[in-house]
Amino acid sequence: MELRNCPQCGKVFARISRDLCPDCIAQEDKIIKQIQQYLDENTNATISDINEGTGIPVDKIIVLLQEGRLITRENSGLLKCERCGKPIPRGRFCGECGKTLARLLSSSQEDSGPKVYVREYHRKLKR
Ligand SMILES: [Zn+2]
Ligand SMILES: [Zn+2]
Repeated sequence: MELRNCPQCGKVFARISRDLCPDCIAQEDKIIKQIQQYLDENTNATISDINEGTGIPVDKIIVLLQEGRLITRENSGLLKCERCGKPIPRGRFCGECGKTLARLLSSSQEDSGPKVYVREYHRKLKR
């Protein structure tokens, strides 16, 4: 059993599958349900609409979207590629920009650093 501090509230807890303590996971699940319910009722809502309607911070909504924990309709337009602005369902870049960035990184630097980043990025996408 691995003990660690919750990055959100600082409490020590036994890590099971997530990095958050059970309290924060429960709280986050509640937030996700709240956003999803809001989106059910307001299909064309933007992130700032969600923020106004639910009181959940914009940053939090974006992180949940990027991590793919908050599932929205395909092309909901809520999350945009950080490079070209195309709507994406999750992550930080669209498929094309992800590929371009990976190519740029691997051609400019053959060793260590950036590759780790790219691997990390792909691992995140697959989740
Ligand atoms: Zn916590
Ligand atoms: Zn893009």
